[in-house]
Amino acid sequence: MFRARNLPLRQFVRHLATHATAPEATAMPLTRHDWKRQEIQGVYDTSLMDLIFRAASVHRQHHDPSKVQLCTLMNIKTGGCTEDCSYCSQSSRHSTATKASKLVDIEPVIEAARKAKENGSTRFCMGAAWRDLAGRKRGFERILQMVREVRGMGMEVCTTLGMLSLDQARQLKEAGLTAYNHNLDTSREFYPEVITTRTYDERLDTIAAVREAGISVCSGGILGLGESDEDRVGLIWEVSRMPQHPESFPVNALVPIPGTPLENNEPVKFHTLVRTIATARIVLPTTIIRLAAGRNTLQESEQAMCFMAGANAVFTGEQMLTTPCSPWDEDKAMLGRWGLEGMASFSQANVAKKEGFSSVRMWLFAVTIDCNYIARTTVL
Ligand code: SF4
Repeated sequence: MFRARNLPLRQFVRHLATHATAPEATAMPLTRHDWKRQEIQGVYDTSLMDLIFRAASVHRQHHDPSKVQLCTLMNIKTGGCTEDCSYCSQSSRHSTATKASKLVDIEPVIEAARKAKENGSTRFCMGAAWRDLAGRKRGFERILQMVREVRGMGMEVCTTLGMLSLDQARQLKEAGLTAYNHNLDTSREFYPEVITTRTYDERLDTIAAVREAGISVCSGGILGLGESDEDRVGLIWEVSRMPQHPESFPVNALVPIPGTPLENNEPVKFHTLVRTIATARIVLPTTIIRLAAGRNTLQESEQAMCFMAGANAVFTGEQMLTTPCSPWDEDKAMLGRWGLEGMASFSQANVAKKEGFSSVRMWLFAVTIDCNYIARTTVL
């Protein structure tokens, strides 16, 4: 029989208990696209301890719970954006301290990606502040070259460049792009309270183009915009209805920026953040849930509870797009204290498949992950 490594009987029993699967989770198919909004609301409204236990059980069915994806984000074109997102310091419609700058050169990006890789990040994300790529032919060619070079370093590459056409998405795929970030931000009903310069359906159109081009989708939301519980459920419901769930679902906590319309918003309550993460984990079982902006405001114990509730990715490094980030050394020390470690590149099966890895290689990935997990926790 298996016995947890060096664990006395009482701890071994606890080990079995914490790796047990809730009955509801066992009965669930791998992914569902037919969630009713009320059904998700019912999950969200569960007592928090039960919700976290159920989310942790689903997490263990679909992911190695000891692995956290480490991503580093770089702003490659700052400020001067014509959109009016009310949370964003980069909108030219708000009076903030963010100064507009041009698209950066390729070399600083490669240098930043190399540094991120040396520090253990396996995904490098590049963000540009603009509505879309219209009239940016030369800039787009430079970005394609950035994607090629970062992908050539063996890292997963993500970009967030606003609205995309199918042709632009295909060029990014051809260059080696792994994932495209395009957040839905909140529910369809609340969206016009936050942004008026584009529609929810335009967001969904870009996500559809990204999907059609064979790129993984990263799409999530922001908490603390002034939305209700129903809006948070509405966001998860919209994502759950996509023909394919996003490979990543970032959960951001608003960092209110002076000069933006949301500068005086109350920070989202921690129990709301963890409740949203746990609900997303249950509804989107194979998706990576990323604890994104605002993480540096959380206590270490709060972050640990988010990992328990199913979060399995973070942004780490020097800076988010315009807000502070937790540095690599602090993150590594924290993850070590909780028995967590960085996830290898392309270890998420859905992402590996889009990268064209053979089924044998994917199977080897899965076996390696399982063997590492078993070796770390059990002995014969
Ligand atoms: S969130 Fe993006 S699209 Fe919106 S204003 Fe900021 S940079 Fe522009």
